[in-house]
Amino acid sequence: MSMSTTPRPFAADVGRVLDIVVNSLYRRREVFLRELISNASDACDRLRWLSLSEPELLGDDPEFRVEIVVDRAKKLLAVRDNGIGMNRGELEHNLGTIARSGTARFLAEASGDRARDLELIGRFGVGFYSAFMVADRVVVVSRRAGEDRGWMWASDGRSGYVVEEAETTPPRGTTVTLHLREDAAEFLDPRRIEAIVRRYSDHIAFPIFLEVVPAPGESRTSLQARRRINRASAIWTRGPAEISEEEYTEFYHHVAHSFDRPFARLHVRAEGTLSWTALLFVPRTRPFDLFDPRRRHGVRLYVRRVFVTDELEGLLPRWLRFVSGVVDSEDLPLNVSREALQQNAVVGRIRRALVRRLLDELTRRARAEAEEERRAWLDWWREFGPVLKEGLMEEGEHRTRILEIARFRTTRDDGWTDLDGYLARMAKGQKAIYVLSGEDAGSLRHHPQLEAALARGIEVLLLEDAVDPFWLAEVKGYRGHPFVSLARGEVDFTGIGEARTEETAPLGDAELARLTARLKSVLGAEVADVRPSRRLAESPVCLVAPEGGLDPRLERVLRQHGQLREAPRRILEYNPRHPLLVAMAGMIGDPDRNPEFDELARLLLDQARVVEGEPLPDPGAYARRLGRFLARAVTHPPTATEAGRGNGEAGPS
Ligand code: ADP
Ligand code: MG
Repeated sequence: MSMSTTPRPFAADVGRVLDIVVNSLYRRREVFLRELISNASDACDRLRWLSLSEPELLGDDPEFRVEIVVDRAKKLLAVRDNGIGMNRGELEHNLGTIARSGTARFLAEASGDRARDLELIGRFGVGFYSAFMVADRVVVVSRRAGEDRGWMWASDGRSGYVVEEAETTPPRGTTVTLHLREDAAEFLDPRRIEAIVRRYSDHIAFPIFLEVVPAPGESRTSLQARRRINRASAIWTRGPAEISEEEYTEFYHHVAHSFDRPFARLHVRAEGTLSWTALLFVPRTRPFDLFDPRRRHGVRLYVRRVFVTDELEGLLPRWLRFVSGVVDSEDLPLNVSREALQQNAVVGRIRRALVRRLLDELTRRARAEAEEERRAWLDWWREFGPVLKEGLMEEGEHRTRILEIARFRTTRDDGWTDLDGYLARMAKGQKAIYVLSGEDAGSLRHHPQLEAALARGIEVLLLEDAVDPFWLAEVKGYRGHPFVSLARGEVDFTGIGEARTEETAPLGDAELARLTARLKSVLGAEVADVRPSRRLAESPVCLVAPEGGLDPRLERVLRQHGQLREAPRRILEYNPRHPLLVAMAGMIGDPDRNPEFDELARLLLDQARVVEGEPLPDPGAYARRLGRFLARAVTHPPTATEAGRGNGEAGPS
């Protein structure tokens, strides 16, 4: 193989990965073998499926296998498979750019701090590139099944790679040959190789053979004869009792390309009208692309032990897209296109059963009593709750089940609650579950719309996930109690809880009617309506959406995504007991004070917009107005009684 061609540089992000990998002192370097075997096994899986419709692809070699060949004299270690292989374009794309999610996540999190980055290699794996932890040169020779030319890819992991036609055309499949570094001689020891394969790759369903070419002078021991070193039975076909925790975890790493400890596992066999086996995993930490619209679940579909596809979207709903694993069906036809599978009724029935079983398992975890388990559930919920809640937008029996295990931020304390806990604590006379939705619970806690509820000791759930306003629009209630958003419609807490502040009204009905009318005439088309509020206790004003209108937060999201063009018109609610409003009521009837009233009305509307996080139509005008009133307030200091009120919101005297 001539290396006369100048190497082509790696894509920039591959270069970064390699830089870390090549210089790594990662202590579990042996995982490189797991990665290469995992790729070989995937390649066999893919060809087996293709060969169902194109049997000629297999030629006279129908037995899939992975071979590890150790050449002790030349210090070479090769992993060879007779799977699907790669042609020139595939070699360049798959090995020259970052094709896999694990590596991309590694990069996203890599910090440049060596010790930390090394730990990340262990958590995410870096796929094929991990070969450079132990090799200073890697040569890949491959031939795509059905094509007549073979290609060679070679690299030292630093200067780039070359791709050229292979000197001798290999049979189909791929051989990855590592020129081991001086410090990696341990991987020439067959016992070491065997131990690694048992530890990480025993679940691989294809036979893995080990063959050793002894160095001159070494005698060929029994250890060195070609022999099979794995069990080669699909892990999910074995009984749970014979599978160790480590084996499960290694299999999870293989299917999920994720290297955390799974949070939950489901290994079930269904027998009856439909027969299938599922081995599914729920991760503990978020995959980095969880909110990427292209993200799909990671469940591979097998039919009678034959891998069919890992792209059958219909196998699980999108709100379970963090789940990965294997489903093996006895009933599906093998010779059917992936497109036809999407429509298949059997797939629909398996999907329903999987959803039910997964929710059973999650519910079991959510209900656990032990303190440690409760904390584990909350940690998990914080990672995945926002995705699971997407399931609330879909009709179905799972709605209630998701609500049962959901956790929410609450005004009660800094912690989280479940809905049953909320129901148990409801105030006397309370029927509804009160909620307020916004970007973050911390600032929601001080939202004016909560004031009256808090003053009466009514607990409110604070919804901070982007998905919340969407499901709130669909889900009517929980155990017969409606969800009521404090950001919408009229709320009336009369008869609920206990009023802690005196509620005698300083303004009479006629004065209120005049104040309302006057505010309306100033603000005109900028608001849908003006009315005295029952939800405010301390703040002068707030904006709410009309009853039956969209939740303001939902409206905001829709507008951001260009789904709604027009700025919504809100109802301005004012606090009829606030000294500022009382003072404004007093201005009516004095024509001299009309301009002042108008200014204040506009200022209040802008203030309400600020609280809502709404953009101000004219921020400059707002700032000038505010400046004028503040100047007056400091040049006419408040009287002692006003200053002593403590809310600092005395109106201009
Ligand atoms: P991943 O396996 O997660 O996709 P890798 O870095 O391990 O990521 O491999 C990158 C890609 O290279 C694979 O997706 C596959 O397309 C290709 N590849 C690697 N090894 C082989 C192989 N032995 N046979 C066929 N394709 C392979
Ligand atoms: Mg891989």
